[in-house]
Amino acid sequence: MILAFDFGGTKNTCAAFQRNATGAYELVARERRASPPQADGAYDYAVMGAMARQLLRGATPNAIGISFGGPARASQGLVVLSHHVPGWENSLLRDQVAREFRTRVAMDNDANAAALGEARFGAGRGCASLLYITVSTGVGGGWILNGEIYRGAKELAGEIGHVVIDPHGPPCVCGRRGCVEQLACGRAIARMARQALEREP
Ligand SMILES: [Zn+2]
Repeated sequence: MILAFDFGGTKNTCAAFQRNATGAYELVARERRASPPQADGAYDYAVMGAMARQLLRGATPNAIGISFGGPARASQGLVVLSHHVPGWENSLLRDQVAREFRTRVAMDNDANAAALGEARFGAGRGCASLLYITVSTGVGGGWILNGEIYRGAKELAGEIGHVVIDPHGPPCVCGRRGCVEQLACGRAIARMARQALEREP
């Protein structure tokens, strides 16, 4: 069995995959929990662990893949931080999960993981290179160049959410103003819709 962990910022998902008759891995179960506003990294980690143990029912996983909703350094298995959940700063998440579940673990930020997924199994099948853009709690992006994730010198390539597009725009969680994320993420779209309705009820 292989497990997938997705730490999403507002929700956490754990999925289990098993080989089918043709030898391909197939989704067999999935658990999802909303992350309450007061949650911190330790809370989300504990919730993920509980979901994983529930799906494993005592088995040891062959491997675990982690997708993290925020800047992460895949080479070190390090979470830099979450812009939405406090307490994740500089966490060695990959090694922590590997120790706890006694298995090999790969980790990347959610946009890179999704870009790789689309390249292998989705809209990008057959394309050597692609840019994946995600619009959810935040805005992220991931590059696939010649079949591999392109991370760049600081492993933040494709992180387009905090590029400033309006210097006079709304303040952002990163400290700047008018980032792509503040003008285009799910929360921003809802906020702008509310403001428009207040102006013209
Ligand atoms: Zn920002």
